[in-house]
Order: sequence, then structure tokens, then C-alpha cells
Amino acid sequence: MENNNFGYHAEKLKVGLEAVSLASKITRRIQNSLVEEDILTKTDSSPVTIADFAAQTIVNSTLAKRLPKAVSMVSEEEGSNLTNNKTLESVMKFIKNTLDISNHLQLKAAIDFGKNKEKPKKFWTLDPIDGTKGFIRGQQYAISLAYIEENEIQLGILGCPNLNPDLSCDPEVVHKKGSLLFATKNHGAWSTDIDNPYRNLKRVRSSSELSIEQLKLCESVEAAHSRHNVTKRILNQLGVKQDSIKLDSQVKYAVVARGQGHIYLRIPTLEHYKEKIWDHAAGCIIAEEAGLVVSDIHGKRLDFNCGEELKKNAGIVCAPSYHHRTIIRSIEKNI
Ligand code: AMP
Ligand code: MG
Repeated sequence: MENNNFGYHAEKLKVGLEAVSLASKITRRIQNSLVEEDILTKTDSSPVTIADFAAQTIVNSTLAKRLPKAVSMVSEEEGSNLTNNKTLESVMKFIKNTLDISNHLQLKAAIDFGKNKEKPKKFWTLDPIDGTKGFIRGQQYAISLAYIEENEIQLGILGCPNLNPDLSCDPEVVHKKGSLLFATKNHGAWSTDIDNPYRNLKRVRSSSELSIEQLKLCESVEAAHSRHNVTKRILNQLGVKQDSIKLDSQVKYAVVARGQGHIYLRIPTLEHYKEKIWDHAAGCIIAEEAGLVVSDIHGKRLDFNCGEELKKNAGIVCAPSYHHRTIIRSIEKNI
């Protein structure tokens, strides 16, 4: 780690990697013992688990303790959604030996750490469990942390506790060690050991030039998050022959960044749905630094400076630069 140049935000990167590594350990433990009572439903009907709250608490508390300056945080979970004492106790059980938190009030404050009513210019964004539905099914999920400054993502970290670090293995098959990926602006994308981020550091690069027939698509497992039928039509028209890889969460960005897949398409299912910044910031910089182009379905760059949502964008296209334009044209004909 010390011998590599990760740029101006190297110290933040170090703290972020430790935070995500620690959170990954706890979420792995929770996933292995998950029971029905550990799952709640939010007001928007989406599921949330004790792991979402535990991971947010761990990442936030690590940043709060280790970073010298005040931190603004745009994070998915809210302390106010932890309403019953039994669930609060379940979260406490998993974090109490790791953090200095001894009561429910401190726990809720840690979950809401860094939330800011004003729109900050420099901020972190966190999805403590991206792909909660995959997490509940016992499949892929990601802990996603990114730092944004000067209208640009400066660093991104994806803890993928179920993703096999061995690139020759099927990414859909759950692995018990997992992978950790990160990128800093203009300093490349990297993979490292999820339990010890200072070990096994390797550069991550997307596939070099491939013909359209060789391309493999990554898409959501959930048909409610991306239009599978439209994607299929686009792939047929383009002449893509390979079977798609279905994965929950930003693990899709990790898989295309590592060259195991080559395109990630997210075709909006609802006209007015706006993607959340924590669902894309870390994955986006990792994919870009690995050599891919990331845009919305109209070819527009993603704008992470409109609050919690990608208000000026619709859907996602992450693809090799030499196929990106062709894919956008095909999407425009099919939606
Ligand atoms: P994925 O695992 O890639 O399917 O994405 C999971 C994320 O999809 C969750 O974190 C949600 O924030 C997000 N999501 C929820 N509803 C929708 C929707 N209608 N369209 C796109 N994404 C959604
Ligand atoms: Mg998410």
C-alpha cells in the first residue's frame, strides 16, 4: 500500500478501506445467521436488515474516529427506521465488541452521523448493504463507500463479501472469503484482500478489445430494477451471443471492471425513478478507472451533485469505450 501512489486522498482511502473491511466481517456473520425477525420493511416497501444498520454504524464510526475533519455523509439508512427495541438489541449484539457504543441513543446517532440538511460540496456517500434483496437470498451484495469533491468522485470502495477473488470462478457462485475493490481518481482501480486491505494488492483492468459477439452482459437479478425484456432485445439486435450474468448490487461494476463481464445495463422500469448516488458512486469510479465508460442510457455522464439522486440521469450504461456509442444508439431505438 505504502509503495503505491493513490493521490491526494490516500489517507481517506486508507480509513475507508479499514471501515469497509470491518463492516464486511460483521455483515458476513449476520448473513450466516439471518432470521426473519432481522428483516424490516421501510416506508417505501423496500426491505432493510440489521446488517444494513450495523454496517452503516461501523463505517460511520470508523470515519468519525479516524478522520481529522468534520465529515458530511449521504447515506441510505436512517436511525428513525429502527423503531423496536428487539431490532436495536440485535444490531447492538453484532457491533458491541467492535465499537464504543453502549446504548440505543448512541447507536442511532452513529447511523445518522454526518447527515447534513445543506448540500455539502465535499461528502462521502454510503450504501451499507447494496443489494439487500441479494443479501437476504444469501447471494451477492456490496458495501459501497465513495468520496465526492469538486463535482467528481475522488475515491470509491466496494466490499464484496461473497465475490470470489479468483477471476476464473463464476461470480454468481457465493464465495466465503470475498473481494475488496477500490479506485482513486486518475490512479487506477485495484483489488485487495477483504480481511487485510494492505495485502495482495492487484491492479484491476477491464477486458481489452473484444468483438460484440464476445461481450457478456451483467444485469440485476431483480426485474423491477432493470427491464430485462428490453435488454434482451437490445442484445439480440447488437448480436451479443454470450449468456448474461445476473447479480445483485454494485458487484456488477466489480465484475465488469475485472473483465469477467463486459457491459452493465440498467434500463429504467419506471418513468420517474431516479437512481440513488450511493447505488453507483463507488462502482462508477472503479469501472472508469478500470478502463470502461459509464453514462446514463442517453450517453450523458452521471452527475453526482444533485443531492441523493442522479436527478439529471436515467438508467446506466457501463461498457467498453469502443462499443459504448453503438449500445446507446441501440437503446434509443428500443425504449
Ligand atoms: P440491484 O441489486 O442492482 O438490482 O440494485 C439494488 C438497488 O436498486 C437498491 O439499492 C435500490 O436502491 C435500487 N432500486 C430500488 N427500486 C428501483 C427501481 N425501480 N429501479 C431501479 N433501481 C431501484
Ligand atoms: Mg443500494
